[in-house]
Amino acid sequence: MDLEFTPQEEEFRQTLRRWLEENVPLSGLRGADPNATRDKSAIEKARAWQRRLYDAGYVALAWPKEYGGQELDPVRQSIVNEEMVRARAPGLVGGMGLSMIGPTLISWGSGEQKRRYLPKILTADEIWCQGYSEPGSGSDLAALRTHAEIKGDEFVVNGQKVWTSGAHYADMMFCLVRTDPDAPKHRGISYILIDMRSPGITVRPLIQMTGAHSFNEVFFDNVRVPRENLVGKLNEGWLVANATLFHERNMLGATTTSQQSMARLIALARSIHRNGRPLTADPLFRQRLADLEIRVEAMKYHMLRQLTDQVRGRNPGIEAMVNKLAGTELNHDIATAAMEAMGDYAMLARGEEAALDRAYWPYEWMFSLGLVIGGGTSHIQKNIIAERGLKMPKSR
Ligand SMILES: Cc1cc2nc3c(=O)[nH]c(=O)nc-3n(C[C@H](O)[C@H](O)[C@H](O)COP(=O)(O)OP(=O)(O)OC[C@H]3O[C@@H](n4cnc5c(N)ncnc54)[C@H](O)[C@@H]3O)c2cc1C
Repeated sequence: MDLEFTPQEEEFRQTLRRWLEENVPLSGLRGADPNATRDKSAIEKARAWQRRLYDAGYVALAWPKEYGGQELDPVRQSIVNEEMVRARAPGLVGGMGLSMIGPTLISWGSGEQKRRYLPKILTADEIWCQGYSEPGSGSDLAALRTHAEIKGDEFVVNGQKVWTSGAHYADMMFCLVRTDPDAPKHRGISYILIDMRSPGITVRPLIQMTGAHSFNEVFFDNVRVPRENLVGKLNEGWLVANATLFHERNMLGATTTSQQSMARLIALARSIHRNGRPLTADPLFRQRLADLEIRVEAMKYHMLRQLTDQVRGRNPGIEAMVNKLAGTELNHDIATAAMEAMGDYAMLARGEEAALDRAYWPYEWMFSLGLVIGGGTSHIQKNIIAERGLKMPKSR
C-alpha cells in the first residue's frame, strides 16, 4: 500500500500553502464560520473569499471543465480541503452548493440545469439551502407533507420546512415536495429547485443554543416554481434526495476538521496545569488523549481508503455513513475532553477576559453536538450501516 503523495502533488500542496498564507488574512474572515451569521457584510465578504479561491483554481477541482471545473482527480481536492483547515481559512459560504446540490446536478440534472446552476455555485454568485426537514419529518424524511400541485407549467408549493440552514441569505433551495399524496410515501416525492425570492416564501430565524443564527423555519404559501426546475423524474425524487444525502454525510464527517481539533486540544492540555504539572503529563488525561488520537488516525485511514476508491472509480458503499457517524461523534468527544480539561473555565463564553483559548471550546462543544444530529442522527446512520452495510435484518 502506498500512502505517499507524488512529487507533483507535494508541489501542488506547497504552492497552495503559500497562496493561503498570503490570501487568508486578506479575506478578513480567518477561522470564521460564515454559515452562522446574519450579518450581511460578513456574507458578502464570504462570497468574495469563495470567488477569490475559485479564481485561483482551488474550488471544485474535480468538476467537469464544461461547467467551470478542472476535471482533476479527487486527490488534489482532498489536498485543498486539508490545507484550508490547516490555514484556518474561512468556511465556504457556498458549501451546500459545492458539496450537495452541485454533485447531485452533475449526476441527475438536465444539460440546461447544469449550464444554468453549476457555474454560479462555484463563484458563490448563488448560495443554496436544503429544504428537506419538516416538523414531524426529520429521521423519517419520507413522511414529509409540503406539497406541490401541478398547474399548467408550474408547481404550486404549500407547506413548511424547518432547520433550514442558511435560508436567510440563500438565493436558491433544493427542496423535497409531495407531488402524489396517494402513492406509498417514498414514491410520491419530487425534487425541485426553488428561487428563494419567489413571492409567498417567509423565512423566520431560529436561534441555536450557541447564540448563533444559522437555521430557520421556511413557509410556502402558493409559491410558484417553473416545471423545468424538477430534477429527475416526477414522483421519483427520493432517489435524487438520497444522492444528495450521500454527499452531505461525506461533507459532515470531514477528517481534516477532527485532525485540527485534536491538535488544538493537545495545545490546550499543554497550557493547563494541574497539581503542578501540565495536563499532558497526567496519566489519566494522557490515556484520554491517546484514545481520541487513535480515533483521529482511524478516520484518516478510512478517508484515504475512500479516496483510493474514488480515484479507481469504485462505487462507494456505506463509507459516507461511517464517516458521518464516526467523524461527528469524534469531534464532539474531542470538544467534551477540552471542556473537562478547562474545568470551571469552560463556563466562560466569548468576550470574557479570563476565557481560555479565546472561548473556542464552549461554542465548539455545542456546535459539534448539532452536527451529530444534522444530516441524519447517529441512530439513523447506525440503522443504515447495519441494514445496508452489514445486511442485518430490518428493524421495521
Ligand atoms: C445543525 C443542524 C443543521 C441542520 N440543517 C438542516 C438543513 O439545512 N436542512 C434540512 O432540511 N434539515 C436540517 N437539519 C435537520 C436535520 O436533518 C434533522 O434534525 C435530523 O434529520 C433529525 O430529525 P429531527 O430533528 O426531526 O429528529 P427526530 O427524527 O424527531 O428524532 C428524534 C430522536 O429519535 C431518534 N430516532 C428517530 N427515528 C429513529 C429510528 N428509526 N431508530 C432509532 N432512533 C430513531 C433520533 O436519532 C433522535 O435521537 C439540521 C439539523 C441540525 C442539528
